[in-house]
Amino acid sequence: MKGIFPKEKFQGIGTPFYYYDTKVLRDTLNAINREAGKHEGFCVHYAIKANANPKVLNIISQAGLGADCVSGGEIQASINAGFPSNKIVYAGVGKSDWEINLGLDKDIFCFNVESIPELEVINELASKKGKVARVAFRINPDVGAHTHSNITTGLAENKFGIAMSDMERVIEEAATMKNVRFVGLHFHIGSQILDMGDFQALCNRINDLQRQLEIHHVKVENINVGGGLGVDYQHPNRLSIPDFKAYFDTYARHLKLRPGQTLHFELGRAVVAQMGSLITRTLYVKKGAVKQFAIVDAGMTDLIRPALYQAYHKIENISNDEEPDTYDVVGPICESSDVFAKAVDLNRVHRGDLLAIRSAGAYGEAMASHYNCRELPKGYVSEEIM
Ligand SMILES: *Cc1c(COP(=O)(O)O)cnc(C)c1O
Repeated sequence: MKGIFPKEKFQGIGTPFYYYDTKVLRDTLNAINREAGKHEGFCVHYAIKANANPKVLNIISQAGLGADCVSGGEIQASINAGFPSNKIVYAGVGKSDWEINLGLDKDIFCFNVESIPELEVINELASKKGKVARVAFRINPDVGAHTHSNITTGLAENKFGIAMSDMERVIEEAATMKNVRFVGLHFHIGSQILDMGDFQALCNRINDLQRQLEIHHVKVENINVGGGLGVDYQHPNRLSIPDFKAYFDTYARHLKLRPGQTLHFELGRAVVAQMGSLITRTLYVKKGAVKQFAIVDAGMTDLIRPALYQAYHKIENISNDEEPDTYDVVGPICESSDVFAKAVDLNRVHRGDLLAIRSAGAYGEAMASHYNCRELPKGYVSEEIM
C-alpha cells in the first residue's frame, strides 16, 4: 500500500492535505452493498459527520447509500451531493428551528427525536407548514460499548436519547399530536466498536423493547441501530475493509425483525476511515535530551483524534526506504497534546520528507479547525492527483 502513494505527484501540492484513495472507498462500498444486500430490509445510511468532503459524499451517494445527518448543514450537504431526501435521517439532541424547518421542507425520511420538548416543536413547526413529520424515538438502551469513554453514547448517563422507561409515554404522547407520525425506534451505542458482542447486546435489548410494545399493540415500521462499527487502525494495509459480513450477520442472527419492518444502519467511520491519509511534510528533526522529534507541518487542527482521544494512527515515512529510527511525531500547535505519535519507528526522517498518517478518512478533515489562525487542510481524491 505504501508503494501506491503517488508521491511524485504529491510534490507540487501544498501540505498538509488529506489524500482519499477512491479505490479503497469503492471497494468498501461494494463490500457494504454485497453484505447488507444478503439480508432483506437492510438499508444502510452513511453518517455524514465522519467526512463531508463533497467529492467523497458524491461517490457514497452514487453507491446508493442513504444519509444520516446531525445538523441542518449536513442535510444541505447531503442533498447537494445527490442523496435522495427520502433516504435522509436526522438525529441530534439539539435541533434548532431552522434545521427542523429544512428537514420538513425537504421531506426527509425521518427525524430521530431525542426528547418530548423536541417532539412538541417538530409538531408545531410541521403544523405551520400543513405537514406531517415522520418521527422515530432515539432510545437510550443502556448498553455499554467497550470503547473510549468519550465515544460511548448508549449508557444511561449519556446525554443522548430517551430513557427506556419513558419509551411508551413518548409514543402515546406522539399519538395525540396531529403533525407527527411515529414510525420507528432509533439507537446508537457508540463508535469504534470491534466486539460483535456489543451489537448483540443491543439486539437483545431491542427484542425486549419490541415485545413490550407488542403487548400494547404499538406498530413499529422501522428499527434504526445507528453506526459504530470500528476499523483496524493498527493494520490499514492488511485490513483495509472492515468485517461487514460479521457485522450485518450479527444483526440478521440476533435481531428479531417483525414482518415488513426495515432495519436501518448509520455507518460513518467504517465507510471512510481507511481510504484517507493525512499527508504532512517534515519541517525539522530535533534531537532532545532523551528523545528525537519529527516536527511536521500538520497539527491537531488538521487531525485532532490523537489529542482528543489518545487515538492511534499508523504513520509511514513515504519519502525514503532508509533504516528506521525512533521518533515522536509532533505538530506546530502551541499545545502539549499536539502529538501524533510517541516513540514510533519510521524510515530515517529528513527535513522535507513526506509522512502519511494513515486511517485518517473519518473524523479527520471534518473536525479540522482554524485554531492558531491556521488554514483548513484541503482534501483530494486520488483521481485529482493521478
Ligand atoms: C456519529 C453517529 C453515527 C456514526 O458513527 P460511526 O461510529 O462513525 O459509525 C451514527 N449515528 C449517529 C446518531 C451518530 O451520532
